[in-house]
Amino acid sequence: MPRKKKTVEDPALTRALKVMEAGALPDADLAAEFATLAESYGKLLRKFNKTLVISDAYEAQHQAMAKKLEEATWKYRQLKDVALPICMYCKKIRSDDDYWQRLETFFCNHADIMFSHGICPDCIKTAYEKMGMNRRAMPLPDAAVTGQPAASPERQPVEDDALREMRALVRRSAFDGSPVAPEVEQFVEKYGKLLRRFSKIVSISDSYQSQLRELNARLELMARTDLLTGLANHWEMVMRLAAEQSRSERNGKVFSIVLADIDHFKKVNDTHGHQAGDRVIRGIADTLRTNIRREDICSRWGGEEFLIILPEADLPRAGAVAAKLLAKVRNTVVPWDGRDIRVTVSIGYGTSEPGMSVDELIRRVDDALYSAKAAGRDRFAAAGSRADV
Ligand code: GH3
Ligand code: MG
Ligand code: MG
Repeated sequence: MPRKKKTVEDPALTRALKVMEAGALPDADLAAEFATLAESYGKLLRKFNKTLVISDAYEAQHQAMAKKLEEATWKYRQLKDVALPICMYCKKIRSDDDYWQRLETFFCNHADIMFSHGICPDCIKTAYEKMGMNRRAMPLPDAAVTGQPAASPERQPVEDDALREMRALVRRSAFDGSPVAPEVEQFVEKYGKLLRRFSKIVSISDSYQSQLRELNARLELMARTDLLTGLANHWEMVMRLAAEQSRSERNGKVFSIVLADIDHFKKVNDTHGHQAGDRVIRGIADTLRTNIRREDICSRWGGEEFLIILPEADLPRAGAVAAKLLAKVRNTVVPWDGRDIRVTVSIGYGTSEPGMSVDELIRRVDDALYSAKAAGRDRFAAAGSRADV
């Protein structure tokens, strides 16, 4: 059964219909045009009301999203930001040659500041692109911050065919002297106004939609990131591992993982306090991140545990990485309250094998880490292969 069109109450339309019913228009052309305009007005009004409802929904969603973003941003601010090491010549943030570490150590010794490990705008942009979201050339409107809609679009003359025809007729004075002339003119004006409002609402609605997309992308990025270290978080890493596993199955190339756990970390908290512990976790995160290749992925897997994926790396290569990281951590100094905190890590590492699930690989690497701990810590151990059993 065809759906009945919902009638829309509107005084201007009701008056227009009365004029038509009374047959009060002086000429047939004008009557026909007027009927077309009235019908088009009814349609536009229905569309307008529908769009208003959609636009309201967007606005509500947008406000909820902006609130979430504000909460998430507030969490980031809690981390006492921000000072970034930026080269005064090239303006880039440097990560080579322990630059981060040295700079941070210098500042911590000479000033009472902390380094933040948030996400820079360039990385946000790269992440957008990776997510397949084309950031529009348009900058993020203030609305994302204030919760208010973007500035209204410039008013432009808006006309459709029905309005154009009707205006032409009115201009030709086709109904000069008719008693209904004022009604008709008023209706034409009202129609024009409705058209303008409609186009304005549509563009506001579009702007809400693009802001929503933008906020969603930001929230998604935050949801993948560990707030303390800026590394990938556990859930992001679970997905990366699954992706690496299927890539490895497709191309037949192995990959390795490295699991590092800070030794006697409880003692750091007990001796220097929890904040110092946080600072050490960040220091070790930096050391690990800056000493792996660009294509490797480092995550904070748990409290003081870090998991690294080494794509296309075999067991000897993973062993070399483990040895390097162990030495780098040993040389890492975290200044705190006038003292230098040093820690070591124990590392387990292993390589994927055909038919081995990610869970099994992690279990084996975890066992290797346990044996490194049991053997005295500050050392690494390789996971056994299935062939060893
Ligand atoms: P082991 O050498 O066997 O690994 O000893 P450990 O003390 O490092 O290990 P244990 O599992 O006994 O203790 C880990 C501690 O890490 C306990 C927990 O309170 C602390 N921790 C976990 N997450 C955080 C964090 O985000 N910040 C701080 N400051 N401490 C954390
Ligand atoms: Mg642990
Ligand atoms: Mg530990």
